[in-house]
Amino acid sequence: MEEKRGLKNRGYTHADVDERRKAVEEFTGTNLESISKYCFDSEKASKNVENMIGATQMPLGFAGPMTINGDHAKGEFLVPLATTEGALIASISRGMSVINGGGGARVKVFQDGMTRAPVFRTNGIDHCKEVIDWIEGNRDLLSSVVGKTTSHGKLTSIESYPAGRNLFTRLTYSTGDAMGMNMATIATEAVCKEIEEHTGAIMVSVSGNMCSDKKAAAINMIKGRGKTVIAEATIPKDIVEKRLHASTGSIVETSIRKNLIGSSLSVTLGANAHAANMIAALYIATGQDPAQVVSGSMTTTMCEDIDGDLYIAVRMPSVEVGTVGGGTRLPSQSEALAMIGCLGDGKASKLAEIVAATVLAGELSTISAQAAGHLGKAHQELGR
Ligand code: NAP
Repeated sequence: MEEKRGLKNRGYTHADVDERRKAVEEFTGTNLESISKYCFDSEKASKNVENMIGATQMPLGFAGPMTINGDHAKGEFLVPLATTEGALIASISRGMSVINGGGGARVKVFQDGMTRAPVFRTNGIDHCKEVIDWIEGNRDLLSSVVGKTTSHGKLTSIESYPAGRNLFTRLTYSTGDAMGMNMATIATEAVCKEIEEHTGAIMVSVSGNMCSDKKAAAINMIKGRGKTVIAEATIPKDIVEKRLHASTGSIVETSIRKNLIGSSLSVTLGANAHAANMIAALYIATGQDPAQVVSGSMTTTMCEDIDGDLYIAVRMPSVEVGTVGGGTRLPSQSEALAMIGCLGDGKASKLAEIVAATVLAGELSTISAQAAGHLGKAHQELGR
């Protein structure tokens, strides 16, 4: 088994994958016929997975069309969603259709920056302060060090958080159209070497958890990580009542008591109905890192009654997406990105806006279904 596990982890062929899977079948006493069926180039996929034995298939559907009026995403979109949760896509599609009735979603990216935060050990608080001062006085040098590791990444800020003789430095990068986590990590290692050489501080870990990657963290919710995106829509009163079978007042009340008070009592980071559902389905479909659904889940959903019309908005502080690199280069993920015009260079902000618009639609539909008392019924009819 050991030698099969290590079999050409980089650049393996289809035959290597077959051989490894057979070894796994033998070891586990299983028949992995479904897992053996896939149609992408295993050699290319070897950049995305080690010990490859095949592929897991997930059903892919679409929601929409949705009208989006963003700075980057403009027009009508059919949004690809990979899910196993019956009723999810029907619900998102309903939300999109209702939002279209109000003229579509308005969306904006407010901030953009990927972070990495190493932790250093210093000799004590005097040394810690000296290191902070050195970093502040040598920003240009550190930017040039970053420039040697990446042509697309740029260092945009460094914040210092001393704690005893620990020093956490939160570095923020613009990462072009890549989500940027590999890029930022490689650049940060080079920056750390420079800091170590000039100050005598010791880097204990390139990631000191103030980044914070793949954890629900208040720092990301407040300061943002990846793209901070806000989507909003206004739904006329008659459409609310006819299409959502609930009044604006009851939807606003549900949003306040559930999203705001309930989330506050349960000390949830974020206040939403199910933002993670839309994010997970869209991230899996388009080759994003699914573990970063956790930061997307810190979404705040707000509803207001404006003269009987329903105003709804989502603030998403941490949409960590890319349209190059990572899983985006796999063929079905590339095709899903192409469906929304988000493949390749110059498209990451557009993708982030589509994510926020899709979350807005899913939030609207689910909050309304709960306001109307229809949530269980819809799942019973569509999901069982
Ligand atoms: P990547 O696939 O490692 O790198 C993308 C590369 O594409 C960039 O480094 C850049 O090269 C190049 N590139 C070409 N056109 C570009 C454009 N228009 N904009 C930006 N870059 C462009 O992707 P990544 O986004 O840095 O990292 C994502 C991967 O990291 C995912 O697979 C994720 O699962 C994984 N990940 C890693 C860590 C970690 O700690 N390392 C943590 C979480 C997730 P240049 O840099 O040469 O310009």
